Amino acid sequence: MIESDRRILTKAIGEPWHGYCDDVTRDGKYRMCKCGDAYIIRPENHVNRTFATAQDWEDLLEKVVRPNVMAFETFLFKSFFQKDSLSLIYMEWFLSLFIEERCELVAEFLIYMYERKAEEFEWVKEFMPKTKKENNHE
Ligand SMILES: [Zn+2]
Repeated sequence: MIESDRRILTKAIGEPWHGYCDDVTRDGKYRMCKCGDAYIIRPENHVNRTFATAQDWEDLLEKVVRPNVMAFETFLFKSFFQKDSLSLIYMEWFLSLFIEERCELVAEFLIYMYERKAEEFEWVKEFMPKTKKENNHE
């Protein structure tokens, strides 16, 4: 899964993104994590989710899919089976996917909801790819 999707999903379940940054603690002894904690003291607490585990899926189910279940089903249906005569089994298909593939679809769902201007998904904007103009610095 690409990093931007993992970042969106991490934010969606209300957790901070971890990774070294250039800051150090006040005493200058430890490197800071992007989440605001000293990274070196407990690096095992600063590992980002893979969104490939059963726990990751459970947490996404609880925080994203269940509260938006109708919209999520519509998204799945429209996105993948609109032109497919076997569309009635789309949920079976979904449940047969690997966890990481399901989590990836949840990320796509969040972007889809943002693009449909759903207000409660406005936060997804910060994870969207930059526009062509902004990308031209290379
Ligand atoms: Zn951290």
